[in-house]
Amino acid sequence: MFAQVILSISHNDIDRVFDYAVPEKFEGKAKLGMRVRVPFGKGGNITEGYIVGLKDTTDVPEDKIKNIVYMPDDFPVFNDTMLKLAYWMHRRYFTTLSRCIQTITPSGIKNKTDYYKNVKYIKIGDNFADSLIKYENSKKSEKKRLILKYVLENGEMPLSVLRNSINSADYAIKTLREEKALEVYDKKVLAEPYINSLNEESSVVELNDEQKAVIDKWDKERIAENRPILIHGVTGSGKTEIYMNMIEKIISEGKQAIVLVPEISLTPMMTGRFMKRFGNKAAVTHSKMNFRERFNCWKRVQDGNISVVIGPRSALFMPFERLGIVIIDEEHEKSYVSETSPAYDAVETAEKLCSFTGASLVMGTATPSVRTYYRCTENKVVYIPLEKRAVKGSRQPEIEIVDMRKELEEGNRTVFSRSLFEKMTKNLENGRQTMLFINRRGYSTFVSCRSCGYVMKCTHCDVSYKYHATSGKLVCHYCGETVARPEVCPVCGSKYIRYFGTGTQKVEEEVKKYFPTARVLRMDMDTVSGKNGYSNILNKFADGEADILVGTQMIAKGHDFKNVTLVGILAADMSLNTGEFDSEEKTYQLITQVAGRAGRAELEGKVVVQTYSPDNEAIKLAVKGNAKEFYEREISFRKTLGYPPCKASIYIEFNGKNQKNTAECAVMAAYEFRKNEEFEILGPVPEYISKIKDEYRYRLIVHSADDLMLMNRAREIYDKLRDEFENLGVYMKPKTEGIRI
Ligand code: ADP
Ligand code: ZN
Ligand code: ZN
Repeated sequence: MFAQVILSISHNDIDRVFDYAVPEKFEGKAKLGMRVRVPFGKGGNITEGYIVGLKDTTDVPEDKIKNIVYMPDDFPVFNDTMLKLAYWMHRRYFTTLSRCIQTITPSGIKNKTDYYKNVKYIKIGDNFADSLIKYENSKKSEKKRLILKYVLENGEMPLSVLRNSINSADYAIKTLREEKALEVYDKKVLAEPYINSLNEESSVVELNDEQKAVIDKWDKERIAENRPILIHGVTGSGKTEIYMNMIEKIISEGKQAIVLVPEISLTPMMTGRFMKRFGNKAAVTHSKMNFRERFNCWKRVQDGNISVVIGPRSALFMPFERLGIVIIDEEHEKSYVSETSPAYDAVETAEKLCSFTGASLVMGTATPSVRTYYRCTENKVVYIPLEKRAVKGSRQPEIEIVDMRKELEEGNRTVFSRSLFEKMTKNLENGRQTMLFINRRGYSTFVSCRSCGYVMKCTHCDVSYKYHATSGKLVCHYCGETVARPEVCPVCGSKYIRYFGTGTQKVEEEVKKYFPTARVLRMDMDTVSGKNGYSNILNKFADGEADILVGTQMIAKGHDFKNVTLVGILAADMSLNTGEFDSEEKTYQLITQVAGRAGRAELEGKVVVQTYSPDNEAIKLAVKGNAKEFYEREISFRKTLGYPPCKASIYIEFNGKNQKNTAECAVMAAYEFRKNEEFEILGPVPEYISKIKDEYRYRLIVHSADDLMLMNRAREIYDKLRDEFENLGVYMKPKTEGIRI
């Protein structure tokens, strides 16, 4: 027997299947998805790999074929569905198959062998029967009797489970061990059995008619075409309750569920609802977990002990055998696209996974991506609006736009408009909470010389430094370089340095200055650290330990604060000037999401949107809550200009330390694409931020009406030019948009 092996070394030159002979001792064990150690290369170094297939013959000559030398596990690290997904990702995201396979295997398992854990177990001892009889009729030994019965019923179990199941049992256990009724021993296990420590009762709410109608539509669609579903509902419209009902149904059919949420939403508040509802059938994963914790979850899924996993995008790769549904909450979130290779988009990948498994795909959000909305208009996705808020009496907040140019004209130089100031004052008096949103951390957005106009810029990146008041330093938000705040202008020597623009630190300072009695919390990348960074701040705010929360987009996500009645969006137009085709989409989403934080319970909410561009349509439509008009306008705009999702496009970023080489490679690639007359080519041009971490950046965009042809041609060109470019120190990063294959 021969095994087809992909090595765990991600390199284009060796990214293919190698044949190895399976020695007799591994014949029962060698299966798809098993890890192996094999000699590789001239030196015959022992390398890790994965079995992706088995066969009876090989083209490798008998004297050349080598043996598998070691197999570290008793279980496969992926199944055939996951392997199919890895092959698809490999083609789609321009990465090595090896790296894609690593993405679908339990994170951190590469080269690991010591993942077994010693756990103290308890089992029936030699004198068990004697003790059972002894305590059966003894009135004083109720606890011992309880323990013995429990062990008799459940068999061997971790000592910790026994301790957790029966209160204050330690002394009784000790006695029973001493008389050899019970025996404690060490057991090597892969995954510890789960102990459900949540004793709270889950209050199951009765779905309202609108929610029931969503479930009905979903049920009909599952039987009919099984197209993906988009639930477009404002925050608080009861989507999470709908998800939980769908999962219940799926579980009752003997199937399993994956729930994707953005990392930031994995708060105890949110996961608690699922854990309460599904108890020890549910598990949570997140990136702050260590290898053991994550592996534990993965293994329990593989063993069939889990029916629901809630986690960030990587939860998609849980090895379920009977997947029935994938739910993607906050479908529009950009964190669903991986920043590391493979740069997979979890929404697309989930759809592929569902098409392989027959599972249903349900997406939910208050602000769909234009891409998904567009696919609804094409009937590729089923659109289900959810119009009302679920909690009786709660209403959409009242939103006001403030023109900040006018404030300036009339002498107001603070970050608060007069209207916001007044509302904040009132809110404080009434003991209500306020959230202030500014999409930039730090103190000021740029630092410049008043005499000559010189702007302090990072030497490694094409961006201006941001001033951080707490450290008194200038920081580059792209490469992290930190320099001392200049005493004089480095160009003209002038002493007059000015700090322009606003970040979270400055807002915090201004709040303290103008509202000295208010208790303020700030939430941004600088204040959120450690395992519980997010939840610490959010919990404090939820517990009423602060009156005002200042934050970046981190505070825009679906947190549910009952006492927040005022939300201020301090600079709504910040996201408009990014130079990207989707800047209006991002602005619309941000305003709608942030505004959704106000008045979630019975209290009425108010939102103040401050902007220098009060006439911008995206801002106006977000404020009016006119989703339909926004999406229709945006789609017609993209159709006219040939932007995704209306046309398929490939966007290639070229990175290199040598500017000339980088630009030339981009031109060369453009030349290759020009050979296809059907393609529409934009660029190459320097990126909006033309240098990051000393690497120059160019971009090339290719549009086509035929997504399959574009994808295939891009793949050919990429494969043809990649090595040549890499020899010149230039790297291509292709991204795809609006491709439906
Ligand atoms: P979303 O996920 O859309 O933000 P949730 O499912 O979290 O909405 O619901 C918002 C609030 O309304 C929650 O406190 C939830 O318990 C409550 N809720 C949802 N559906 C109902 C219902 N049918 N009856 C009563 N309360 C509900
Ligand atoms: Zn100067
Ligand atoms: Zn920098």
